Amino acid sequence: MPRSPFLSSRLQGFGTTIFAEMSALAVRTGAINLGQGFPDTDGPAEVSEAAIAAIRAGVNQYPPGPGTDDLLSAISEHQRRFWNLEFDPASEVLVTAGATEALAATMFALCETGDEVIAFDPTYDSYGAGVAMAGARLRGVLLRPEPRPGGGFRFGFDPDELRRAFNPKTRLLLLNSPHNPTGKVFDQDELQLIADLCQEHDVIAVTDEVYEHLVFGGHAHRPLAGFPGMAERTLTVSSGGKTFSFTGWKIGWVCGPAPLVAAVRTAKQFLTFVNGAPFQPAIAVGLRLGDDYFTRFAADLQAKRDLFGGYLTTAGFDVLAPEGTYFITVDIRQRSKSGPDPVDHTVAFCLGLPEKAGVVAVPSSVFYQDQRDGQHLARFCFAKNDALLIEAGERLVAAFG
Ligand code: PMP
Ligand code: GLN
Repeated sequence: MPRSPFLSSRLQGFGTTIFAEMSALAVRTGAINLGQGFPDTDGPAEVSEAAIAAIRAGVNQYPPGPGTDDLLSAISEHQRRFWNLEFDPASEVLVTAGATEALAATMFALCETGDEVIAFDPTYDSYGAGVAMAGARLRGVLLRPEPRPGGGFRFGFDPDELRRAFNPKTRLLLLNSPHNPTGKVFDQDELQLIADLCQEHDVIAVTDEVYEHLVFGGHAHRPLAGFPGMAERTLTVSSGGKTFSFTGWKIGWVCGPAPLVAAVRTAKQFLTFVNGAPFQPAIAVGLRLGDDYFTRFAADLQAKRDLFGGYLTTAGFDVLAPEGTYFITVDIRQRSKSGPDPVDHTVAFCLGLPEKAGVVAVPSSVFYQDQRDGQHLARFCFAKNDALLIEAGERLVAAFG
């Protein structure tokens, strides 16, 4: 990438996010946008009505720095109800501008220049930029598709590669489960190994759990903070965007031991100070919805995964079915003839997809430290109404099948 004038050295190499780029491509071409991850249907009416009521009631000025008392309590109750984790709302929970700010503020607060942050590769795009802005260095541990005993593939990692990633410079381990873009849900044994290594090397874990409620049959979300010895060294991050289908509201949070949360609060107060006054009471309503809401949400998404995944298979792609999240990955090698330059393979495939099939996907290569590792993978978002998924599926089958 050419050097950008004005941009600091820390941010050289970071251009426009892939999500903005692919959504712009969808608008330009009129193609069905299965690139950027957002649902096409709003979340529960009682949640949006609570935001409207709050605006009407004058909840429009700066809320308290750490978040409103009611939302802090609702987050704490939610962590206990679903994950059996205890957090004192007054000192162990902080409301942020989405998970993105929680993650950035955590890195700014905790990293010294030159520190290393371990994360499984591919990573969600803000991790690399957040680490860079904090003056730290991202150390990737590669997730590779491995054959699953019952058939199909599952993303796994080499335990020795993870062990080798830990060194005296390691400050944080950043774990995203359920994982974007692969859809991997880390299992008990994988999490236990991560927990053991964090304790052995005195490393703080930061977990990005924005897809905590989007886990499909046969898999379970297990917060790392619940493993023995981890509560005192884990910051658990999540947000209301995915769980309640209001991605534009940007209400997130971070929970953990009071001294760690206090450090993150110090950074957060100079980034945004506060955020989303009328959306805070609304997300509190969402967090207190009955269990049926959360169960139905995951079941609906699982049905969409199966519906759209079926079309991808019929179109001739090898499908890496996700265990969670609302993203599905395909191996394009069977179906792509594009790109003389192998590094640009999936990029060329995704750039040509609107013309060839009238659909937009995201080239997974952009999530990898070394883009060659993901050059044959593309990601589709299936959080869309069934009619749209069927239309997109039929187009892909007509173009490739
Ligand atoms: N982490 C992951 C893994 C994501 O996919 C996203 C996108 N929603 C975020 C963080 C950002 O979440 P938010 O919109 O709450 O900032
Ligand atoms: N998390 C969403 C995705 O992975 C997009 C968020 C964004 O546009 N930054 O597609």
